[in-house]
Amino acid sequence: MSQKANSAQQFEYKAEMKQLLNLIIHSLYTHPEVFLRELISNASDALNKARYRMLTDKNVLDADKELTIRLEVDAKAQTFSIEDSGIGMTEDDLINNIGTVARSGTLEYLQKAKADQKNAAEELIGKFGVGFYSIFMVTDEVTIETRHAGKDSKAYRWNSTGEGTYTIEEIDKADRGTKISFKLKDEYKEFSEEDKIKETVNKYSNFAEFPIFLGKDNVNTVSALWRKSEKEIKEEELKEFYKFVSHEYEDPLDHLQLSIESTAANFKALIFIPASAPFDLMRNPDRKSLHLYVNKVFIQDDCKELLPEYLRFLKGVVDTSDLPLNVSREVVQSSAVMGKIRSVLTSKVLNWLKALANKDKEKYATFSKNFGPLLKTGLNSDFTNRDKIIELLRFDSSLASIEGQTSLKEYASRMKEGQKEIYYLSGDHREALEKNPNLEYFKKKEIEVLFLTDPVDVFIVPSINEYDKKPIKSIEKGDIDLMPEDKVDKPEDNLSKDLLGVFKETLKDKVADVVPSKRLVDSAATLVSDKDGMDPQMEKMMKMMNQGGAMPAAKKVMEINTDHPLIKNLSRIYIQDAKSPMLEKCITQIYESALFIDGNLPPAADFVKRMTEIMQEATK
Ligand code: ADP
Repeated sequence: MSQKANSAQQFEYKAEMKQLLNLIIHSLYTHPEVFLRELISNASDALNKARYRMLTDKNVLDADKELTIRLEVDAKAQTFSIEDSGIGMTEDDLINNIGTVARSGTLEYLQKAKADQKNAAEELIGKFGVGFYSIFMVTDEVTIETRHAGKDSKAYRWNSTGEGTYTIEEIDKADRGTKISFKLKDEYKEFSEEDKIKETVNKYSNFAEFPIFLGKDNVNTVSALWRKSEKEIKEEELKEFYKFVSHEYEDPLDHLQLSIESTAANFKALIFIPASAPFDLMRNPDRKSLHLYVNKVFIQDDCKELLPEYLRFLKGVVDTSDLPLNVSREVVQSSAVMGKIRSVLTSKVLNWLKALANKDKEKYATFSKNFGPLLKTGLNSDFTNRDKIIELLRFDSSLASIEGQTSLKEYASRMKEGQKEIYYLSGDHREALEKNPNLEYFKKKEIEVLFLTDPVDVFIVPSINEYDKKPIKSIEKGDIDLMPEDKVDKPEDNLSKDLLGVFKETLKDKVADVVPSKRLVDSAATLVSDKDGMDPQMEKMMKMMNQGGAMPAAKKVMEINTDHPLIKNLSRIYIQDAKSPMLEKCITQIYESALFIDGNLPPAADFVKRMTEIMQEATK
């Protein structure tokens, strides 16, 4: 970069910038015009902010200035500029909003994605939006000149080649707002032609709520799309509007248009489900969400009060006539009107999701995979809509044909004659769950078991307690209601009774009890929780969260498969020599193997040593 005047201060981008730029450029090269949508969208946001500020505060720079976006191009010189009379930027804004990748964790995510060999840039970019930096696809150097709307603001020039550094210097600029200018790369010089710009503005940016001028000509029609009737709106318009308001890159998965006139609330809304989830969906509550308008006038972006937390993945606008234009943030936060809008909106959104699930299973499966984890958290926070949310949940299950997506209702409809409970098993992966010994009985009986592989599952499913009067139960619990034909106790022979005694004596305090099992088929033993005990997966997570804190693991009950050849062999050894050291060795090994399967085996030195001894003995 050429050295600027001495007064210009040089700054360095955060490290991830370069990687991000590369990614943006490589995934967008087939849609270079996206930069124009981003710039107009940013200008429109800035104008919205200026307009809102003037509603509440007359002490603004250029209070009478027209709210417009002006484009200038010069085909000969291959230059482009866009100027808005919006809110402008302070020096801090330039550093914090333009100079850094807004979202922490982006780099971490990129690295992880790379490690996963998932370098599909298209997919990645959908996860964090495109933004201002799409500009570097069509140019090598950008200049921003800006002055904030505050009365005492100073003006600045920002300049960068997007390569690692940028400069900021103070300049003279009389007017409020932002001007962004650059020279186009040769291969994109068409964006310095008036016709191309007109065409692109028409395609992308008819949703700006402010007039856009190209030279002297107004090139857009200002329209509040959400106020049109559904029939009037074309599919293509909807998609473009979505991208415009949400700064998303992919088409939306689905949309909902609402026009509510009731005693409770009056509003219009146009709401979208994104095609994919951001990589930090669960961790970042500050994601962009719905924008609030009052009678077509923008009031606030990302208005948290419009939807409960668990629906914060939705994008779009809500436009109400129930609030005054000069409504302040504080009023938005506390007003009863907002509460009513939110409750009507939430209920409509949940109905929409339900309809989507019935109408288009595949689409709903995509939705559920992407946003299900967040939606589920609503169970523990929105008690009014609990029943509706329960119907929207989808789980993986032991039935392969379900392909990871069953509702509780569908599960209930498949229950076996005589099956009284809904069963689940929790763990990290399907593959691990399929090998869990506790599943053996259910496999043999062809009873379906829900596989809770989503980390939030164990926090919400136990709290559902029952569905359609059927208790929901972990198959790792000791008190499973077996099928009627399996309830009769086998006559207990004295021998296995004695052997259980040896197990108890050997394991002592390590287990709460040792009992004969009715659920094991192929395995010799398993550990189950007490009927009031915590779900083992939940216990594991709590332990992780406490990180060695004071949470003693609850003692488990060991169940023994008395039909298993190994247990029978142990009985035989016991008859021959009750003091045989092999008994203790094998019993301890069986216990630790069960711990191992549950992922609870402490550092395994003894386990391996003992196993070697046993193998040595067996191969003698
Ligand atoms: P996004 O718009 O998705 O937040 P961008 O990278 O496009 O991401 O923009 C980053 C930020 O820079 C914006 O959120 C805004 O704060 C600021 N910004 C960009 N363009 C303008 C503009 N024309 N006027 C004022 N602020 C702007």
